[in-house]
Amino acid sequence: MNKSEELQKLKEEMLKDESLPLKKGATNLVFGVRHPETKILLIGEGPGFNEDRLGEPFVGNAGKLLDSLLQSTELPRKDVYITNVVHHRPPENRDPLPAEISAYGVYLDKIINIINPKVIVTLGRFSMAKFLPGVFISSIRGNPKIVNWMGKDIVVIAMYHPAAALRRGDVMSMIKDDFRKLPEILKEANKQEIIQMNLI
Ligand code: URA
Repeated sequence: MNKSEELQKLKEEMLKDESLPLKKGATNLVFGVRHPETKILLIGEGPGFNEDRLGEPFVGNAGKLLDSLLQSTELPRKDVYITNVVHHRPPENRDPLPAEISAYGVYLDKIINIINPKVIVTLGRFSMAKFLPGVFISSIRGNPKIVNWMGKDIVVIAMYHPAAALRRGDVMSMIKDDFRKLPEILKEANKQEIIQMNLI
């Protein structure tokens, strides 16, 4: 099975899972989109109104900003994979609760394992906390960290959520700076991979 097929199978499993805590109030499952063969995985928080309606992550205003940030890196949106910490819309767009994050986390872990990214970009504090617990975005944003994730080294770079950048001009300039670093971070991550392969 290739990665697209594995993701499709997982999505079907998720569609049938009646235990998912936010399923009842949601219109659609918002699983993930774009390129499964990518080295870069972006993880947001959870679907909003538009995403719930269309069943696709980041299709509203925050998504438009995300597209333009990705374009500025010359990594087109189709060359990354995008998903969320929770895959159904929380009521009234409230923050996801810890129990919800754990329930959807079982599937998020499987998505990460299938994509097997070199670089994870966390958008906002909920996805950051999955890899880098107990830190503030303000202190580590834009600083790539190597995280051992289920036995594999992954470069995690925490960034503000695009929705926060739409609300605050200072966050907008920080997120732009951080996205500009992505191609170089990817290059370094690829170099590390080559070094590790030669060591084996
Ligand atoms: N915000 C998110 O975190 N994810 C989406 O899919 C849309 C908005």
